[in-house]
Amino acid sequence: MPNYIFSEKSNKKLAIGKLVCLARTYHKHAEEMNTKVTEKPLLFLKPASSVIFNNDSVFIPNISKSVHHEVELCVVIGKKCSKVKRKDAFDYILGYCLGLDITARDIQSIAKKNGWPWGIAKGFDTFAPISNVVLKENVSNPHNLDIWLKVNGEIRQSSNTKYMIYTIDEIIEFVSNIMTLEPGDMIMTGTPEGVAEIKKGDRLEANLGNFCSLTVSVE
Ligand code: MG
Repeated sequence: MPNYIFSEKSNKKLAIGKLVCLARTYHKHAEEMNTKVTEKPLLFLKPASSVIFNNDSVFIPNISKSVHHEVELCVVIGKKCSKVKRKDAFDYILGYCLGLDITARDIQSIAKKNGWPWGIAKGFDTFAPISNVVLKENVSNPHNLDIWLKVNGEIRQSSNTKYMIYTIDEIIEFVSNIMTLEPGDMIMTGTPEGVAEIKKGDRLEANLGNFCSLTVSVE
């Protein structure tokens, strides 16, 4: 499985690093999960090995009976940074892409009930499809981008990044005060409402801001 994205800026391949993921960053999604928005973002990690690309397939693991899609704006880091101040946050961004935070919801529910981490529910191979990366210079306002996902041609999720509870600079400040961010790391900023189950044979299409698109099948 290739594990890199193409960086137009440096004209070379950029290895994908850690995927830092946020949860409950849209009010309506928190509501549909019967959870509350927290004061600070909730954070978990997905392994780089879960990344797949356009036209690849998501594989449903045998041990899950309910796998869900979550469509998300992803921020791709271009420069190593830690303890970033909000006002400098955009200096460290390479660009943006669309990502799917595929989740074994049944396994996650058991984890939540028991106070266990989400590593199994979120970390399977193929559980992080990502689109092409668009450089930040070409995105005038990442806080106002339409984002949608269709399953077999039917809209399941449709929102806009303006409904995100935290801004991208707040998120980078928050995350970089916990862990150093490096080129190729991605921050998956959380999903809007409409998450639902995917099944073998489904075709997922997603779009961000009319400049990132992604199609994957489910096997
Ligand atoms: Mg998510």
